[in-house]
Formats: sequence, C-alpha cells, structure tokens
Amino acid sequence: MALIVQKYGGTSVGSVERIQAVAQRVYKTVQAGNSLVVVVSAMGKTTDGLVKLATEISANPNRREMDMLLSTGEQVTIALLSMALQELGQPAISMTGGQVGIVTEAEHTRARILDIKTNRLSRYIKDGKVVVVAGFQGISSVEEMEITTLGRGGSDTSAVALAAALKANFCEIYTDVPGILTTDPRLVPEAQLMDAITCDEMLELASLGAKVLHPRAVEIARNYGVPLVVRSSWTDDPGTWVTSAKVQERSLINLEIARPVDHVEFDTDQAKVALLRVPDKPGVAAKLFGEISRQNVDVDLIIQSIHEGNSNDIAFTVTTPILKRAEAVAAAIAPALRSQSSPKSEEAEVMVERNIAKVSIVGAGMIGRPGVAAKMFATLAQAKVNIEMISTSEVKVSCVVDAADCDRAVAALRTAFEIEAGELLSREAGEARKEKLILLSPSSSSSPSSPSSPLVRGVALDMNQARLAIRQVPDRPGMAAQLFGLLAQHNISVDMIIQSQRCRVIDNVPRRDIAFTVSQVDGENTQKILTQVAAELGWGEVVLDCAIAKVSIVGAGMVGQPGVAAKMFEALAQHQINIQMIATSEIKISCVVAQEQGVKALQVIHAAFGLAGSEKFVVPA
Ligand code: ADP
Ligand code: ASP
Ligand code: MG
Repeated sequence: MALIVQKYGGTSVGSVERIQAVAQRVYKTVQAGNSLVVVVSAMGKTTDGLVKLATEISANPNRREMDMLLSTGEQVTIALLSMALQELGQPAISMTGGQVGIVTEAEHTRARILDIKTNRLSRYIKDGKVVVVAGFQGISSVEEMEITTLGRGGSDTSAVALAAALKANFCEIYTDVPGILTTDPRLVPEAQLMDAITCDEMLELASLGAKVLHPRAVEIARNYGVPLVVRSSWTDDPGTWVTSAKVQERSLINLEIARPVDHVEFDTDQAKVALLRVPDKPGVAAKLFGEISRQNVDVDLIIQSIHEGNSNDIAFTVTTPILKRAEAVAAAIAPALRSQSSPKSEEAEVMVERNIAKVSIVGAGMIGRPGVAAKMFATLAQAKVNIEMISTSEVKVSCVVDAADCDRAVAALRTAFEIEAGELLSREAGEARKEKLILLSPSSSSSPSSPSSPLVRGVALDMNQARLAIRQVPDRPGMAAQLFGLLAQHNISVDMIIQSQRCRVIDNVPRRDIAFTVSQVDGENTQKILTQVAAELGWGEVVLDCAIAKVSIVGAGMVGQPGVAAKMFEALAQHQINIQMIATSEIKISCVVAQEQGVKALQVIHAAFGLAGSEKFVVPA
C-alpha cells in the first residue's frame, strides 16, 4: 500500500463535472489499496477573477487582504471535492492550510513554507479518510494564524511539501496537458511529451517560464528526493517523471528556507576572450559561435551585453589549453564583423585575458531570494575582489575574477556561506559532478556526446521580464554588491546580470555599463530606486525597457557541446531576430529579444533543435 499525494490544478477542477471526474480517480486510487492526500487549486480561473476584483478597488491592494481574498478560491474546491467523494461513499475531509498546520513565513503573497505539522493529517489517513487540502495557502504561525499564500501557481509547492513532510511514496501533479513537453503546447502545438526529465533541468525550465510546475515545487522535490510525476487529469497516460539523485535525509524544519548554498566551486584554469564593439544586428553571435563550433572550441560562459549606440560586446570563457585556438577564431572573425559605416576607433576589437578564475556558489535554496547573490557580491567586495563577469542561473551564481584573487575569494565565500571543506569543489570535482548530472539526465543514457541524445530538452519563453541598464558604473570592487544589495533590501529578484566588457574612462575613473533583468512588475520601481541613488554613487543614467522577452534552452546534455549555442543563435539570425543579451550556465542558454519577436523566437528555436513532433496538442479550454 502506498501513500500518495495528488494535486489537481485549476482546469482539472474547473466545473462540477470535472470535480466529479477527479473524485472518481481519487476513489479508484483508494480502491486499489492506497492512502491519499489530495491538494487542489481554485476552480478554473477563480484566482484571476479575485485578483481583478481587488484591482478594481485598489491600485495597490494591501497584501494581507490579498491573501485573505485569494485563499478563498481553494476553499471552495476542497469542500466540493470532499462532498463529491462522500457521494461516492468514500470517507473524506477537507482542510485549509491552517488546519493542516502548514506554517509559513509572515511574508504575505509570497510566503515560504517553514514547517508542516502532520499529526492531524496522519490521524485522518489512519482512519481511512481521504484528506482534501487547500493548496497555495498556509498560516504565519500557530499563535497568530494569519493566512498567507505562497505566490501564484503555489499549489504545486503545497503538494510536494506535503509529500516530503509525510514521506509519501510519490507525488502526482494532475493538470491540463499530458505531462512536461519540450515547450508550451499553447505556443507550439508540435511540442513533444517527455517521459522523464531531471530535477536540475526542470528547475531551470520552470524558472525560465515553463508554467507547468512551480519552480519551488521542483526545488523541494530535489532537496527531499520526492518522486514526482506530472500527468493529465483527463487520461490514464503515464505522464512525465521528474527524477532526482538520491539525497541524504534532511530536516523538515525550515523546509523551504534551509541553507541557500550547498557548494562553492572554483576553476582557475580559465581564460576570457571578448569581442568589443560588434554591430548590434541579427546574425553576429551566430557567425562568431558558428565558427567557434566548427573549430571545435568548447566555450563555457557566454555573455553579451548591450550598449549605448549600436554596438555590443560579446565575451566567452574557455579553459586555458584551448585559449590559443579560441583567440585565433575571434581574431579571424573580427574584421568580418566590422560595420561598414563605423569609424576606425569604433571597430570590433579582440581582448584576451589569460589569468582569470571562475568562482561560483551553487544551491537550489537561492531561488527567489535576491539576498543570496547580493551576499556573494558583498563578500567578494569585502575581500577586495573585483568582479569581471557575472553569470547567473536559478541555482548558481558565477563570478569571473582575477586568478590571483581566487584563493581569497573562495576563502571568503566559504566563511560567509558556512561551506565545509567537503562542499568545496575544484574544477575537476565540478566536472565529475557535471558528468553525474549528464548521466542522470534520462535523455543521455550512454555518453554525453552520444549523437542520439538530445542536447536540448526544452525551450521556455518568459514574457514577464523587464531589462534595466545602468550606464557608466565605476569599475571597482563593491559596485555589484551595492547595486544588488539595494535591490535585495526591496525584495527585488534580479535575473540575468551582465556587465559590459568595455571600460570607458570618464573623469579618470574606469566605468562599465551593467544590465540585468527583473520581473516586469518590479521594473518601474527598480528604475526609481536606482535613479534615486545614481548621482550619489556616481552612476550614469538608468534605462528601463519593458518590451523584452527572454527565450531559453535547457538541457544537461549541452555540457561540452560547442555547437549548441551556435545553433540557437543561427536560428534567431535566420529569422532576423536581434539578440540583445546572452547569458549562459552549464545547462542553459538564455537570450533577450524584443517582446514582439518572443513567440516567433521560441518557435524557431524549438524547430531548430528538432524537438517538434508530428502530432499536434490541443490543450483543453
Ligand atoms: P494547473 O492549473 O494545472 O496548475 P498551469 O496552467 O499552471 O496548470 O500549468 C499548465 C500549463 O503550463 C499548460 O496548459 C501549458 O500551457 C503550460 N506550459 C508551459 N510550458 C510547458 C511545458 N514545457 N510543458 C507543459 N506545459 C507547459
Ligand atoms: N490558485 C492559485 C493560482 O491560480 C494557486 C494554484 O493554482 O497553484 O495561482
Ligand atoms: Mg499551475
């Protein structure tokens, strides 16, 4: 007999008929000899409707009252589903988040789960009842009992957290698609279903815009090793398993806010090649990385920043032994990238830096916690380490620094994040971990370079981002710390962070531009906050662009495959889509493009990687 947590999303419980169909499935699962906890969302688009009501009354509704309002949606569903089960003769009881004892932070509208008191749940389960729990909600503390919500899409997180707390055999997420597909079938009907995907890959996909799972749910599954499957509530098809490595038993206290950083990584065998002043037009990145992949040069980080005027900088890192080859390719291609019209001083130029090191912090606990990256930057600043490049992913922040600073940087980070010796990974150890990641990836059964394994598992689009650029930021230790520390204080999460390679000396101070993306809702506020301090800190103008889209590819198999980036850039170039920013990590590449080209970008990249199937998906209304 298994203990299963099932979660049904809004569409799956969108009508009386749907609730009855869910009750039938639950009943059958119990008849098959299982114990069940069922987590449900609000019916259909109820939550959207409630949000709309609130905004009709207030432009900036009080967050506590928002939680009071939104939590009612789920409460309707739990009562109706329990009644439907009782009609079938199945003993069932509905419970709110508070009644279950889901205790969260006191952060209204975005609370993280701290603890789940399972006694009452376990008692009902033992009595043979199906417990129907309201997803998306909790209480701030047992004494205060303030209702909190976990953030939109948070019912997935409620379900996986319950599965972890109850040590359930597995957690099933029932939704309106047959499982996790290579991309959103609403935008690309040819998207294909996957049998399985690793937690690491899904974490990136979910946070880069694939709405099918709440990223925090994937994070909990990964941290606690909860077997997780996404399935259609319309069929009995097997769906998609989200796989995780075996994990050590972990305390359930502070469930979602346990240690944010698990490892510090470093690599001293790195060199940087930068092309400055390449023209800002479609096809440039494609040309450069096409040639790089033809010469079989494996690049690690790629970063492209935007600039005033009409030229960009593109920088990438390679391991030292292949630097010569990389440099030769860049030097050979630079003349071809020169724009005809620009004056001599504005021509593309190659810059090489031999003695650099990459230091990274790694951990799923940093998702949505802007303070973690800020703390890394502050720690490096205190250690007087200047940051040359920054690259972020959902679970990792990497900084390129001078090789001479590496030991100092690592020591400072270890102290700041309480990292034991065994949790420090050198490049070799990191490589071994990457290998493990690849082997764990269900797509690559044999070797990472096996031609049959898809390098790219999925493509995601995020249309809810805004881009900010700060001009002429003085290039000295502590600038990133100041900037991101300030945003962290306002609880603003920064996504892609890109520093330009080009330094300009103004008033005897070397300066760089810094660009980054934030959630669109935070765009204007971020601009306001930064503009207020710009003069005092000696920064130039703060520019905001809300009409952007971020398109990303994800796949553990892309490690050590030079052609992947080139293929993505080439697909965009062929369709005349200009790339504004590029940022990579080991398992993802993201490009910022104009918003109006976002969907097209998603479609052409999906097709370029051969992910389209012959069947078309029709998502239920
Ligand atoms: P639920 O209400 O069941 O939680 P959501 O609307 O939150 O459902 O998530 C399911 C939706 O996620 C799908 O209808 C689909 O449009 C979207 N989606 C985005 N990316 C993907 C993907 N890679 N695979 C499957 N669905 C995706
Ligand atoms: N009902 C909430 C929402 O629409 C939570 C969820 O469905 O996951 O965001
Ligand atoms: Mg959802």
